Amino acid sequence: MTYYNIHAYLPSAHSDEVTILNRILREKKEEDIEEKKAGFLSVGVHPWYIEDVAIQMKQLQSLAILPNVVAIGEAGLDRLTDTPLAIQQDVFARQAYLAEELQKPFIIHCVKAWEELMAIKKQIKPETAWIIHGFRGKPDLAGQLTRHDFRLSFGKYFNPGSLQRAYPRHIFTETDDQEISIRIVYRQIASALHITEEELGKQIQKNVKSLFPV
Ligand SMILES: [Zn+2]
Repeated sequence: MTYYNIHAYLPSAHSDEVTILNRILREKKEEDIEEKKAGFLSVGVHPWYIEDVAIQMKQLQSLAILPNVVAIGEAGLDRLTDTPLAIQQDVFARQAYLAEELQKPFIIHCVKAWEELMAIKKQIKPETAWIIHGFRGKPDLAGQLTRHDFRLSFGKYFNPGSLQRAYPRHIFTETDDQEISIRIVYRQIASALHITEEELGKQIQKNVKSLFPV
């Protein structure tokens, strides 16, 4: 069985794990494109690190076309960070349009800005999948989001009732920045869903393969 980790900060040492590493673009940090060819990546401008947007978007545009960059993001809206929400919305929308242009899935970080997120999706009407990573919200919110065809990615912390709303078609798995194995995440999610790890594994594989060339 192969384990899929769609949002991680550390590469895996196990050959039966497929990992998409997240890279946050910073204004001052020169990105090493050669290094980036090593594995699957998602690349984006994170709402916590909006600096010189012109430089960051230029970096993003040059990296986003690489074949191993299999998703755009994480990009997002975060009410708990200092950057005004209007600026975050603008940077988010620009990245969403890039994902659309390249037909790559879009990985989203959202904290306390759900109405705004749903409004942007209604406005852009994307064809590519929008995946909310690190989803910890309640079942009602999960239901609302999946009805709008958002995919939800779960990691170490999740609301068990929300898994039910995302399973089977909208569920993904990740470790994020936590020191936890993706295997443990699978075990916990399978147990909360009252299904076997194999059953979960098959569904996650199907969901991942439907969106990513991994
Ligand atoms: Zn995040």
